[in-house]
Amino acid sequence: MSVRRPDRITYRVPDLKDPATRARYAGKRTAVIGSGASAFTALASLADLAKAEDGTAAKTVWILRRGISGSTFGGGTADQLPARGALGLAAKAAVDEGHADAVTGFRTETIERDGDGRLVLVAEDGRRLDPVDEVIVLTGFRPDLSFLSELRLGLDERLQTPIELAPLIDPNQHSCGTVYPHGVNELSHPEQGVYLVGMKSYGRAPTFLALTGYEQVRSIVAAIAGDHEAAERVELVLPETGVCGGAGLFDQPDTDQQADGGGCCAPAPALIQLGTTDPAPTCG
Ligand SMILES: Cc1cc2nc3c(=O)[nH]c(=O)nc-3n(C[C@H](O)[C@H](O)[C@H](O)COP(=O)(O)OP(=O)(O)OC[C@H]3O[C@@H](n4cnc5c(N)ncnc54)[C@H](O)[C@@H]3O)c2cc1C
Repeated sequence: MSVRRPDRITYRVPDLKDPATRARYAGKRTAVIGSGASAFTALASLADLAKAEDGTAAKTVWILRRGISGSTFGGGTADQLPARGALGLAAKAAVDEGHADAVTGFRTETIERDGDGRLVLVAEDGRRLDPVDEVIVLTGFRPDLSFLSELRLGLDERLQTPIELAPLIDPNQHSCGTVYPHGVNELSHPEQGVYLVGMKSYGRAPTFLALTGYEQVRSIVAAIAGDHEAAERVELVLPETGVCGGAGLFDQPDTDQQADGGGCCAPAPALIQLGTTDPAPTCG
């Protein structure tokens, strides 16, 4: 009788407080792919697991498409969201303390199984990594809009956000963490009365904060209720990340960041009123 091998690839941040999940990763060599908040969470959790294993743990392999720069781990103590800053610092500590080895400039193309059933990651440029037992893929996602295919949605072809919203939140332009508050006007579609809100409204942009969604919903509900003055009055103070500048391209290394991960410019929170022509804050 053949025994089906357990799947060794997951697309979720593992909950290492769960005993079964903890057992799955304990003592294993794990690859974490990605460099966003989810990947930081996984790196920090695996480092905590390694510390608990008292030196017997295998190192995590951390795979990034880009290089590591001052902005990789976020704004640290300069981040106006302390928990977001602390998460980046925890991931940095995982690397600095030797729990994770970073492999940079690695664009995973295929994953092969070796004779022992372990996984070998192969990059586009042909590089092959030493086998790992587990792979955690945290490379972002995009909303599933397939069930809306009969509706007339106006979506930016690259970001998959409403067209009016795309330039306001484009992560290539808004690397400072500056994302403009917005409401019913930017979230409307050719299909009257249809709005995508919350994280799904951001398409592939990774910068969504719950606060933004609350303001989106407030504006849209006001519009539906007929209070157009309230719907137009979109106001929101968003916390700065504490890092800014950057190459503007996902795969290019940032060259204008401080190497210590500190914030290059963390302007005071600004109340931004939509409908004005205020230019984007400039940084770095
Ligand atoms: C690791 C991580 C950490 C984060 N930390 C923060 C933070 O500290 N602060 C912050 O503001 N934001 C944080 N975010 C962003 C956070 O996800 C959002 O702020 C918030 O959860 C978004 O809320 P939402 O309701 O828009 O989307 P979600 O929380 O993703 O909720 C969408 C819901 O819709 C459901 N759904 C999807 N498709 C369908 C369908 N076809 N039919 C019915 N239901 C469907 C999903 O199952 C889900 O329940 C974090 C994100 C990640 C990944």
